[in-house]
Amino acid sequence: MNPIYRDMPTTIFEAMSMRARETGAINLGQGFPDGPRNDLVIDAACQALQHRSNQYPPMVGLPELRAAIADWYRRHQQLDITPDEVVVTSGATEAIAAALLAIVKPGDEVLLFQPLYDAYYPLVQRAGGIARIVDFDRSCWRIDAQALADAISPRTRVLLLNDPMNPMGTTAHPDDLALLARTCVDNDLIAICDEVWEALVYDGAQHRSLLSYPGMRERTVKIGSAGKIFGLTGWKVGWMCAAPQIARVLAKAHQFLTFTTPPNLQWAVAEGLNSQDDWIAMARAQHQASRDFFCAGVRQIGLATVPSAATYFVCVDLALSGIAMDDMAFCNAMIKQAGVAAIPISAFYSDAPPTHLVRFCFAKERATLERALERLAEALPRLK
Ligand code: GLN
Repeated sequence: MNPIYRDMPTTIFEAMSMRARETGAINLGQGFPDGPRNDLVIDAACQALQHRSNQYPPMVGLPELRAAIADWYRRHQQLDITPDEVVVTSGATEAIAAALLAIVKPGDEVLLFQPLYDAYYPLVQRAGGIARIVDFDRSCWRIDAQALADAISPRTRVLLLNDPMNPMGTTAHPDDLALLARTCVDNDLIAICDEVWEALVYDGAQHRSLLSYPGMRERTVKIGSAGKIFGLTGWKVGWMCAAPQIARVLAKAHQFLTFTTPPNLQWAVAEGLNSQDDWIAMARAQHQASRDFFCAGVRQIGLATVPSAATYFVCVDLALSGIAMDDMAFCNAMIKQAGVAAIPISAFYSDAPPTHLVRFCFAKERATLERALERLAEALPRLK
C-alpha cells in the first residue's frame, strides 16, 4: 500500500461534514454555499442532458466552453488568453493534480505557501516532487522575502500559489505578487496559480492574476472553477489556462486522470459565463453581505476575527478572543456543545501550525447564520 495514502488522514472537510451530519450540527466547516441559485445555468444543464450529446466531449473541453472562459477572462481580468490555451478539467483539484503531474519531474522542488490547501502537499509528493514550504507571515499573511529566498535551490522548478487564499480569505498584496513574479523569472520557475476564488473578492477590489505580471505569461498555469463562480461546488467543472507549449503537456496529464468532463455541465457553464455577469456580481454582493453580517455577529459575542477580503471564509482568532483551547479542541467542543461545525486552521499546516485560528464558512442563508450565532453565544461561556 502506498504510504502517502495509507498514513494520510481523511480530509478535514469531509471529516467535519460527516460529524456535522451525524450530530445535526450547523455546518460552517466545508466551504459550500447554500445560495444564491442560478436557475439559468441549472436549466441549461438539464436541457443539454435531454437534448444534446451525452458522449465523450473533446478531451481538452468543449470549444464553446473554452471560448467562453477565454472571453470571460478578457472581460473581467483584461487577459489575452486564447481558447486553445484552455484545458477543461473535472474541477480545480483535478487541474492542480494534472498541472503537478505534467510539470514536476521526480526530485524537482516545489514551493508551497503555508497555510496550504490540503490537497497540495500529497499531490506534490505523488508527482515525485519535494515540497519546500514557506510560511506566510502570521501577523499579516504576507510573503516574507527572506523566507522565500531561503526556500529556493537550484532544484526548485515550480511555485504553487493560492490567491485569493483559502483558508484565511486574504488576497495577495501586489508587492508580493511582483516579488513572486521576479522570483519565477530569475529562477526559471513555472507558477501554478490556484485562483478558484477570483470571482469572490469583496469591497470593490479587483482580482489580479500572477499571470499578468511581467515575464509570467509564458510560465504560469492559471486555474479556475465554475463551481465557485456559480456556487455549484458539486459540479466539479474547472479549467487550467497556460501558454500553448505548457497547455499541450497539461492536456496529456489530464487525458489520463479524468479524460473529459460531463458535456451537459460544460455547455451550461459556457452559457453561464457568456450571459451571467450580473448574476455573478449579485452573488458576490450577497456573499459580502453575509460576511459582514456574520463577522458583526461573531464580534458581538466577543470573538475576534481576522479580516476577510475574499472567499467564503473568515477566521476567528481564539487567542485574541481570550480562549485558551487549541483550534482542534475548540472545534470538537463547538460541535458537541454548540452544534456548530468549523475547520481548525492547523489542518492547513504540514508542521509547526498556529493553533489559535478557526475557519468559518459564512456563505449561508441569513437564518442559518443567525441560528449558528445564537448557539455560539449560548455555548461560549462553556467554551472558554
Ligand atoms: N474547498 C473546500 C473548502 O475549503 C473543500 C473542498 C473539499 O471538501 N475537498 O472548504
